[in-house]
Amino acid sequence: SVKYTYLFGKKTDGDAKMRNLLGGKGANLAEMARIGLPVPPGFTITTEVCAYFYANGKKYPTALAASVKEGVASVEKQMGKLFGDASDPLLFSVRSGARESMPGMMDTILNLGLNDQTVEGLAAKTSNPRFAYDCYRRFIQMYGDVVMGVQARTEAETEPFHEVMEGLKKEVGAVLDTDLDVENLKELVSRYKALIKERTGKQFPQDVYEQLWGAIGAVFDSWMNERAIIYRQKYGIPADWGTAVNVQTMVFGNKGETSATGVAFTRDPANGENVFYGEYLINAQGEDVVAGVRTPHKIAMLSKEMPKAYKELLAIRSKLERHFRDMQDFEFTIEENKLYMLQTRNGKRTGLSAVRIAVEMNKERLMDEKTAVGKIPAESISSLLVPVFDPAAVKKAKPIAKGLNAGPGAATGKVVFSAAMAELENSKGSKTILCREETSPEDLRGMIASEGILTSRGGVSSHAALVARQMGKVCVCGASSIHVDYAKHLMSVGDIVVKEGDYISIDGTTGEIFLGEIPTVDSEVVRVLNGKMKPAKSYTYQLFETVMKWADKYRKLGIRTNADSPAQAKSALLLGAEGIGLCRTEHMFFEGDRIDSMRRMILASDTAERKAALAELLPYQRSDFEGIFKAMDGHPVTIRLLDPPLHEFLPHDSAARNALAEKLGVSSEFVAERCNALKEQNPMLGHRGCRLGNSYPEITEMQARAIFEAVAKVMKGRKPVKVMPEVMVPLVGFVQELKFQVAIIHRVAAEVMKEKGVKFSYMVGTMIEIPRGAITADEIAEVADFFSFGTNDLTQTGLGMSRDDSGSFLGKYKELDILAKNPFASIDQAGIGQLVKIGVEKGRGVKPKLKIGVCGEHGGDPESIRFFNDVGLNYVSCSPPRVPVARLAAAQAAI
Ligand code: ADP
Ligand code: MG
Ligand code: MG
Repeated sequence: SVKYTYLFGKKTDGDAKMRNLLGGKGANLAEMARIGLPVPPGFTITTEVCAYFYANGKKYPTALAASVKEGVASVEKQMGKLFGDASDPLLFSVRSGARESMPGMMDTILNLGLNDQTVEGLAAKTSNPRFAYDCYRRFIQMYGDVVMGVQARTEAETEPFHEVMEGLKKEVGAVLDTDLDVENLKELVSRYKALIKERTGKQFPQDVYEQLWGAIGAVFDSWMNERAIIYRQKYGIPADWGTAVNVQTMVFGNKGETSATGVAFTRDPANGENVFYGEYLINAQGEDVVAGVRTPHKIAMLSKEMPKAYKELLAIRSKLERHFRDMQDFEFTIEENKLYMLQTRNGKRTGLSAVRIAVEMNKERLMDEKTAVGKIPAESISSLLVPVFDPAAVKKAKPIAKGLNAGPGAATGKVVFSAAMAELENSKGSKTILCREETSPEDLRGMIASEGILTSRGGVSSHAALVARQMGKVCVCGASSIHVDYAKHLMSVGDIVVKEGDYISIDGTTGEIFLGEIPTVDSEVVRVLNGKMKPAKSYTYQLFETVMKWADKYRKLGIRTNADSPAQAKSALLLGAEGIGLCRTEHMFFEGDRIDSMRRMILASDTAERKAALAELLPYQRSDFEGIFKAMDGHPVTIRLLDPPLHEFLPHDSAARNALAEKLGVSSEFVAERCNALKEQNPMLGHRGCRLGNSYPEITEMQARAIFEAVAKVMKGRKPVKVMPEVMVPLVGFVQELKFQVAIIHRVAAEVMKEKGVKFSYMVGTMIEIPRGAITADEIAEVADFFSFGTNDLTQTGLGMSRDDSGSFLGKYKELDILAKNPFASIDQAGIGQLVKIGVEKGRGVKPKLKIGVCGEHGGDPESIRFFNDVGLNYVSCSPPRVPVARLAAAQAAI
């Protein structure tokens, strides 16, 4: 028959491995009992009962009643007390506990088994009536709230039991709850009962079994309360896991000065330091510590107040770590100097702390390297790299709004609303925060010139966020409570007005926006990498280095970076990139005067004019490539030919158009006409990618020439550099599109070799970013030397979902569970991922050694990286600051 309850105590049925069935709390209570820690005995009702409860109109399996009775009897025998005994009652706590801990989301009831008779028995037996009534009032409050539903009815209303208690405290002149004497507590009990009667029309139940079943039902009910549902949605916990219920003998931290209750971590969860960390309250029970009823003491103080219990705790601290082999977060209670353990679990921790604990536990031989690598969420390594606000200053700062934390780090500076203003301020040596409704490629100069970017629209994969991450810029986007008024040069939140030139500070790690300047400090790791600090001086750097060494030892995937400039390339190399997987050429056209030549090229009315304008651009591109080749010093560089629709390079308003007309010596009407002609309904699906190179082969020709002339130049330079250029054709769906482009590129390469009298090798490959390209990858592989999956466009075109417009419904889709995640942030493995798989299989079917990488945003996402590892890609390419994250994630995927 099915087993519905599992004992823990002298006899223990479960263990730590049974968390699915017993919940995390129940499984670990069993495990602690097994290894001889002092756990008050009890039993766990399984999560299967919860599933049954919800599948059967909130009824229990028939056999449960007998099973619970047996559990109670077993505990009674162990404790030598009876449940409901009027002279010496056994009391229980009834505690929830799901597979994953959901702190504070579900309900717990303490001191169950007290009624008007048993409370007297408890008082007599302990010779401590105050204690007995303190327990009773707590029980009635919790039971009244959780089981009988006596709660605040409106947001404005205070919690009713709390109000009754505060009223009484005022009447008798008590400040703390401990100031109430036994008579006060008796009065409180009767007022509580009256409150329940008044609110529910029912009496507080005196029958202890009725109490027990009421509490069990309430815990199961709480699995579906609003808080718990929202929490599960946020953390992706499935509703069908259910919660277990733990029925456990009460121990009392509220028996006077020799009793206490507390919570502790075996190490510091904020910075990972190997110190005992925690707090406790003397003469208190349960959630008093967390709820802040009184200010708790630091755990170190316990060594003075209760030296014996403290010593025991220290021994337990190391026993827990040696047994569970991870940092533990645990709850304890001391009853008349005797210590009891009530809970333990792997402690939640910050990024820095995760890294430090893994490295140190490996050193202490508590975990091997592979385990340590697996224990560090890949994301957390980046928290060692970002500049940080001076924490003391943050406390004093004034927060005004919150957006999405799109580009981690801390930035502070003058508010500017345009790229031009950002550049102007930058040239004067001022730091700026570029504030826009949203950004476009035109803002790039301003983004480069700014410390940080703030937008009021757009999500984590918006242009602003993408560029910010790539450039390692701090970015908060989609702060929708902010209203930007370009005309008046100000933005506002409610009645707070921020003018151009005012200072603000944005925290891209939390998404917070503050008024005024907050000083930042560069991370130590970055200072060491830049040679500004000695490695030996920075412990954080040593942690970083250790983890990165492990990562490189275990990973199979190569790690490249998306970089458009020598500076980005260099910073990525320092962070461990092994090449450039995507160098976008279009960003180069926005710098300085180049945009004029670019616009002249776009506006050209015939091929001859276009060629003339392209000739002006050639030297710029060539010198950019030289810079990148030199910076990459022999590492492979994948250069993507021009990709975006041409209209993105043109001015958007009439003033700018007129200025352009004047500059180029043409009429404003002509410029306006051309701009209109280039306008597209659906630019992302329009005249872009290799379609440009096929309509205007002279563009491809110029770009190929710039690349190969740069190769020739750096090869023959005074300090010759080895170069491995990989020319990449974007947006190929038909093999013929690629064939035309490849022919041009090969021809130009041969010409340049001949002209310059050198020989170099190079590759010509393609992006696979159109579903048709993936599906016909076998044909395409015939002409391509390599593939790079452009998973941004592949997702966009494969799902028929615009990256820039999906923000309006993705939230709802997540709520409805249609999509578990934003498919632009983490690859849709079952859909778009299958296109990648098909592309790999078909491509390698033709060329078994075909080099294949990925260069979309997904290249920096740990879960996507796992997928790319599994489908056998050679490398992933991500923005420079994500390189360490990708290295670690790749190792985790390979282990
Ligand atoms: P949560 O999951 O919200 O942490 P718990 O079930 O751990 O809820 O209970 C909350 C608090 O109640 C615990 O921190 C502990 O102090 C107290 N508590 C629970 N069970 C007992 C018990 N058997 N004896 C004494 N205190 C208990
Ligand atoms: Mg707890
Ligand atoms: Mg693309």
